Amino acid sequence: MIRAWFPTLIYSEPLLASGLERFNADLAKECRSLRDYDKAGRSWSRKNYPGGYTSYASLNELHRFSSTFAGLERRITRHVRAYARALDMDLRGREVRMTDCWVNIMPRSAAHALHLHPLAFVSGTYYVATPAGCPGIKFEDPRLERFMAAPPRLAGARKANQAHVTYPAEAGRLILFESWLRHGVAQNPVDAERISISFNYNWS
Ligand code: FE
Repeated sequence: MIRAWFPTLIYSEPLLASGLERFNADLAKECRSLRDYDKAGRSWSRKNYPGGYTSYASLNELHRFSSTFAGLERRITRHVRAYARALDMDLRGREVRMTDCWVNIMPRSAAHALHLHPLAFVSGTYYVATPAGCPGIKFEDPRLERFMAAPPRLAGARKANQAHVTYPAEAGRLILFESWLRHGVAQNPVDAERISISFNYNWS
């Protein structure tokens, strides 16, 4: 008998059951005006996020300064609690808390290299605008650096046995993962902006 152990759980659910169109339109507008306003973020992005805009290094506590983003935080927190329960986490009576929240705008040709989210336990992304053909979020098997002499996987290997999995970006959808899980976004090949909001959670 062979059984799977030590699973890597990735959470993917619509943020709300309905009514997201108006909410996303408000968010998209606010994301674009943040880019217009955030000179420091635009110059940081030129060096570190080529072709795109991220407020990661400049405006990264948006849930504290904007009522739209505070509304997003409230809606996301419910999902983070459910995810922590699915992982059987013992939060020792503490609360899950959003620590960082930032905007990513990827026009054509922008990409986001594989990375982790340090200083957090749960991270994720909420999709605001996802033009047809824009890239999804790609996750990497966290055991990859331990494989050493393992042979590559067959081209037709079962999805769970492959080294990467990509979730399509879909406006209104929330993706949660443990912050140590490496992920990235391939180059956007379409002539329209892909907008997402990323965030970190801690428990304290
Ligand atoms: Fe990320």
